[in-house]
Amino acid sequence: MIAGHYGLAAAVKGKEIRTPLWALMLATVWLDVLFVPLVLAGVESIAPVPGTNGGYGQVIIHADYTHSLVGALVLAIVFGAVAAIPWGRRVGTVLGAVVFSHWLLDLVVHRADMPLLPGDLGNFPRLGFGLWRLPAAAAIVELALVAIGAWLYLRAASSVAAASGPIGARRAALLAGTILAAGVFTLAVDVLIG
Ligand SMILES: [Zn+2]
Repeated sequence: MIAGHYGLAAAVKGKEIRTPLWALMLATVWLDVLFVPLVLAGVESIAPVPGTNGGYGQVIIHADYTHSLVGALVLAIVFGAVAAIPWGRRVGTVLGAVVFSHWLLDLVVHRADMPLLPGDLGNFPRLGFGLWRLPAAAAIVELALVAIGAWLYLRAASSVAAASGPIGARRAALLAGTILAAGVFTLAVDVLIG
């Protein structure tokens, strides 16, 4: 689930045109960005579901800090607060919400491997609706997110660009097409390589 997160970022860009696209893209995958060094440090981990090759969606992820409900909320607030320094409160709030949206989208696809508290403190039941058990359905949801995101972005960008003439409109269409192509490519890599 990387492409789906980017789709959501593109959709938000359509509504919040003042928020830089790159910051939205970073915010939407921020929890996964932090996950990488923690995996390398052996604090968090990712392993194939027993009996599978660990392909698309066939993984159990123990991201007990970055992907715990409370951990994700804290990381979202920190991200938003830092972004608010240069860009103001509105953009900071949008970016913080986008960071947390990652957890909500992951909740849909992850098997029940996401804890409530950082470090799985208290051993509460882990969360995750497990759409990854049906990889084709999960891939379709991701594709839909990418397509809807690109479309909402195109709609918003073209109405802004129309004011600056045909070159502006063409640029908006080109960017939306790039978002769509990048999303489809990311999803294809994810599905094929896992
Ligand atoms: Zn994630």
